[in-house]
Amino acid sequence: MRVKAKLYPKEAARLLREQPGVREAVTGATLHFEANRKRAYQEIDAEAWRERARRVKDHLLTHLDHYLELAEKRLQEKGVQVHWAEDPEEAHRILREIVARHGVKRAVKAKSMLTEELGVNPLLESLGVEVYETDLGEYLIQLLGEPPSHIVGPAIHLALSDIQRLFHQRFGTPLDASPEVLAAVARKVLREAFLTADLGISGANFLVAETGTLALMENEGNIRLATSLPRVHVAFVGIEKLLPRLADLALFLPLTARAATGQRLSTYVSLIQGPAKEGEEGPQEVHVVLVDHGRTALLHDPEAWEVLRCLRCGACLNACPVYRQTGGHPY
Ligand code: SF4
Repeated sequence: MRVKAKLYPKEAARLLREQPGVREAVTGATLHFEANRKRAYQEIDAEAWRERARRVKDHLLTHLDHYLELAEKRLQEKGVQVHWAEDPEEAHRILREIVARHGVKRAVKAKSMLTEELGVNPLLESLGVEVYETDLGEYLIQLLGEPPSHIVGPAIHLALSDIQRLFHQRFGTPLDASPEVLAAVARKVLREAFLTADLGISGANFLVAETGTLALMENEGNIRLATSLPRVHVAFVGIEKLLPRLADLALFLPLTARAATGQRLSTYVSLIQGPAKEGEEGPQEVHVVLVDHGRTALLHDPEAWEVLRCLRCGACLNACPVYRQTGGHPY
């Protein structure tokens, strides 16, 4: 992912000029997320939940070497192939080898900020692989050739009219097509991609060290399809995404859902336990790529290490007035 922080003021100003509805779209979406989060927090003792989560993450991060080794062992016991990537170049080499070995022509992807960070899509495209983002918001920005503008809602900067215009140009739908019609068009394209893809790519919300379980949260069902229909599944996981015990999910899944969207739990939670066994349907190979890319260095920084507790819930973006006023510009 190209980070162009210095260009932010200029790019944000350009976006506001060229896409005048963007501030309204971002403000509407973030205020909606924020109101839902507040409502969901009122049902629980949010401070106590957060404090428990903080203690678990602190324990994990101060014993990370132990839990990484345990996760590798448990994953391998389940038949998962584990890889370690120090930087994006190593992650690319690993993916390139998997693509070559399986003759991959088409890949379906679940939403993953880590794959953005690693530049997975440009790599696959350079290898001649047709890549489909399958989260609806990610699919929209892929069609537009833009990076995501929000961790949870990658296309929140788009108004309905932007999407109507995009689909009119790409698929010939009427300029006033309803959201239902637009969603049906996207579903048809993506269903075909799910059924014909050789490779499924995902991130992970959590990787449980105790059991070697990948936990993925979503609301659209696309992650479940992307990780179960293709014959090979590759999950990219930042090393800070581990949790010590399976029981920790009982806290982290609902806490993340409440913070992100105000849901008690996301619509779907997938717990992936390795490749399909004989007689079962599902991927024949599952690979987990454990990615460092500066995280170990961050862990040793006495000031900055706490950012590794981040769950990517996006609640800070929803509360940020600067983000709202600059149109959620992804640069
Ligand atoms: S830093 Fe932001 S995205 Fe990360 S856990 Fe905190 S509120 Fe959520």
